Amino acid sequence: MDNKYYRKYPVQITLKSPLNISMGGERGMSAVVKMDKTPFIPASTIKGKLKANFSRITGYPIHIGTDPEQMCPCPVCGIFGGGGYQPSRIFVQSFFPVAGNEKIHEAKLGARTGIAVDRYLKTANDGSLFRTEVVEAGAVFAGSIEVYFTESTIEYEDRLIMALEMVEALGGGKSRGLGAVKVEVGQLAEGRA
Ligand SMILES: [Zn+2]
Repeated sequence: MDNKYYRKYPVQITLKSPLNISMGGERGMSAVVKMDKTPFIPASTIKGKLKANFSRITGYPIHIGTDPEQMCPCPVCGIFGGGGYQPSRIFVQSFFPVAGNEKIHEAKLGARTGIAVDRYLKTANDGSLFRTEVVEAGAVFAGSIEVYFTESTIEYEDRLIMALEMVEALGGGKSRGLGAVKVEVGQLAEGRA
């Protein structure tokens, strides 16, 4: 890998409203996706939004079913990978609550402010109550995103960061005001030695 174009971005996501990234689950209950009881934001959720925004900003459509024998020259495929042998050159971590984040900490202890179950009730089609578990507003998640840019994709660095900062909503319940987020991209790390 050409280290010259390697970048690692620390990223922080602050919840502006309660968040529900659902893992499906039992009937009548939309549980928050968790790992070892800790709510997290899956990498795929972030990567999908980022790719869509990047495609919009650059004006290059997301290619589906590109010829597996060919390397697509567009920056979307160049960074996110194309069909067949064109690998993804972006690596997104799952995002976890930052250490010392009181809201999440309390959640793990089962207190009321971290994860509120039953706060969002709606009635399902059959008239039964449907509960949505959420992580409360104010919680902060952190993770990092690594990109192995190339000589031809490095010029899209600013637009990739912009695409990330443009992510304003995650998860479900948008129409009920859930999932509003603020994404902040930290200091850029220079290429690794
Ligand atoms: Zn392409």
